[in-house]
Amino acid sequence: MSKKFKHMETAMIHEGYDSKELLGSLTPPIFQTSTFTFDTAEQGEARFAGEEEGHVYTRVSNPTVQILEQKLAALEKAEKGLAFASGMAAISAVLIALTKANDHIICSSGLYGCTFGLLSMMDKKYNIQTDYIAMTDAESIEGKIRPETKVFYIETPINPTMEVIDLKLVIDIAKRHNILVVVDNTFSTPYLQRPLELGADVVVHSATKYLSGHGDVIAGIAAGNNELMEQIAATTQKDIGGVLSPFDAWLVVRGMKTLPLRMDKHSDNALQITEKLKQHPKIKHVFYPGDPDAEGYSIMKKQMKSGGGTLSFEIDGGKKEAQTFLNKLQFINIAVSLGDTETLIQHPATMTHAVIPDEQRRKMGITDALIRLSVGIEAWQDIWEDLEQALT
Ligand SMILES: *Cc1c(COP(=O)(O)O)cnc(C)c1O
Repeated sequence: MSKKFKHMETAMIHEGYDSKELLGSLTPPIFQTSTFTFDTAEQGEARFAGEEEGHVYTRVSNPTVQILEQKLAALEKAEKGLAFASGMAAISAVLIALTKANDHIICSSGLYGCTFGLLSMMDKKYNIQTDYIAMTDAESIEGKIRPETKVFYIETPINPTMEVIDLKLVIDIAKRHNILVVVDNTFSTPYLQRPLELGADVVVHSATKYLSGHGDVIAGIAAGNNELMEQIAATTQKDIGGVLSPFDAWLVVRGMKTLPLRMDKHSDNALQITEKLKQHPKIKHVFYPGDPDAEGYSIMKKQMKSGGGTLSFEIDGGKKEAQTFLNKLQFINIAVSLGDTETLIQHPATMTHAVIPDEQRRKMGITDALIRLSVGIEAWQDIWEDLEQALT
């Protein structure tokens, strides 16, 4: 039920919901119910047969959850969205639905630790092999394509190295070879980047992060065309069953209303902190796609509105120095997750990416000195003051 607003800020608030349809309730009601009653046995039969529209059971559909699904689909310019109990529930439902045993996946050289875990499991259980490649030039990508290659799986910016991948370049290659492109758009959200507009087939999100934005819910979303989304809904979503609860959907919908405001502030703050970190003698490298000196800056400008709110940096030293630095912080919390109002800091090598074997992790550029910072929406001067005193 897309209303097609011209501006994203308006769409973020109004898409997916019309108060007039629900007793004028300004905010959406939470349909906290497991099942839906039928007027007659015949109506039940018709709903199960898909001959009559209407809800049956909350694992299959729920009105509050649908508000979120429609909102996200409208923002990503997708035909249909599906909500899940977590980002990983969304990613696993998509990848398992789109592949079968002995297929092949080509993936960006870095990615979220648990997605790596999922792909390793799919390899062990179903011989679905994954090649991790830099995806910077057409030749090296095409060189890896096999007859069984089914999916390109891309994270951009890559967590936690913050490299950006040229989506247009990769999508054009995929199209020529009839390969589906799945993009994890968690770090950017549709406010900053819309991979489907560039031709990707499916976007997945951890809505736990920027979309909900307040660190109070675990949620995931996938969006794409009707055919693919219905395939996922009817198979892995329904039968594996990692669906989102109505209350959690409501929290994400509420969070999304302020996404543009938050995202602009996250991005502005991240740029300020990048500038400061770059000048500090104890910092070796700063990785932020919004930094005009960053390697991927021109690609970022092409496909993103701004660099987003997450950056990473290497301090002088190794694991011990990184941990000492984290322990000295005063108000910045040591925690995984990102995209919350609060600034969060973590050590990928021992936390989010600890599941990746040492050698592969180093190949992905995740050294023991690398620290990931999710810059919150506090005053950047306070964030910097805390970082600076801990560095000293
Ligand atoms: C957090 C995250 C996930 C997983 O999401 P959950 O909601 O924690 O299951 C997937 N991809 C990226 C890029 C993430 O940051």
